[in-house]
Amino acid sequence: MSKYWNERIHKLEPYVPGEQPKDRRYIKLNTNENPYPPSPGVLAAIKEAVNDQLRLYPDPNEDELRATLAKYYQLSSDNIFVGNGSDEVLAFSFMTFFSPDRPVMFADITYSFYKVFANLCELKPEIIPLDDTFQIPVGAFREPSGGAVIPNPNAPTGQEIAVQSIKDILEADRNRVVIIDEAYVNFGGTSVVPLIKEYPNLLVVQTLSKYSALAGIRVGYAFGDSELIQGLNRLKNSINSYTVDRLALAGAKAAIEDDHYYNQMAQHVIQTRENAVKRLAGMGFTIIPSKANFIFISHPDYKAEDLFHKLREKGILVRYFNQPRISDYLRVSIGSDEEMDQFILAVQELLSH
Ligand SMILES: *Cc1c(COP(=O)(O)O)cnc(C)c1O
Repeated sequence: MSKYWNERIHKLEPYVPGEQPKDRRYIKLNTNENPYPPSPGVLAAIKEAVNDQLRLYPDPNEDELRATLAKYYQLSSDNIFVGNGSDEVLAFSFMTFFSPDRPVMFADITYSFYKVFANLCELKPEIIPLDDTFQIPVGAFREPSGGAVIPNPNAPTGQEIAVQSIKDILEADRNRVVIIDEAYVNFGGTSVVPLIKEYPNLLVVQTLSKYSALAGIRVGYAFGDSELIQGLNRLKNSINSYTVDRLALAGAKAAIEDDHYYNQMAQHVIQTRENAVKRLAGMGFTIIPSKANFIFISHPDYKAEDLFHKLREKGILVRYFNQPRISDYLRVSIGSDEEMDQFILAVQELLSH
């Protein structure tokens, strides 16, 4: 607390990112990064962009990147907004589409940044409890509200919601914006990007951080009706017109063009995930069915918090959420096969003592 802060800053409850430790080498299974490197084409494009043009501002409209995305997704550039990571795109969306006079809905167990954004915008969230099996309760999300945000697959559970359920939620109230956060959709989920043509109240948010192994360059985007995109541009150009730098623009464009490479990596991550699920189930773990690059697991005989600390001592980082309903669970990012072998070996050792 400080007397120099204004009232707004006093009232914030900032997000706490997963740790990025520097004290020793860890097997990092805590922030859902991709275990594989960006494609060679991406690295080459970024290196090529390191030149004297860096003295110039980047394109504030990201025309080339949006054209590349438009071609890939068969949309118009007017349907695409690009930002400095999808967290920024989400923050801008909260500021653009939701109002304090009508509650915005999101689940009790979901990406914890939504609550932070809601608080920042002084919105009243309506928290929708997931059902007993941690599924999104579609009926509750169909009730009237000032908007809704749903990650598909959900985080940190990894569970997906059916496309038809998303349609039902969109149709229940066409006067509010529904944001579908597809940060993990490429690990076996189904994207609803094609639905933006049918539903002017749908905004789909994606990121290069997970699937495209580019958490380090910070690029995210949103797809929606051009009216939604125009709203986001009004907000962006009232804060910072150059949110995506030249190196990020170059890398992002190459990443979209190298989809074949990324798709192969994702298929490998999916295989590694299914393999880990089988082995952990054999060790007595409960595992929520995951369509993401992480799994949400719980063991009847070992407290999740203890397991988290013991794994850390062994040099393995996973994510523990000290929060109601999920304090018995750990979220484990899917690493390389070798990393998952070491994780499972460490867990076996801990369970046998
Ligand atoms: C990781 C994550 C994001 C943020 O991605 P960035 O593009 O790196 O900001 C957004 N939503 C969910 C659900 C995530 O897990």
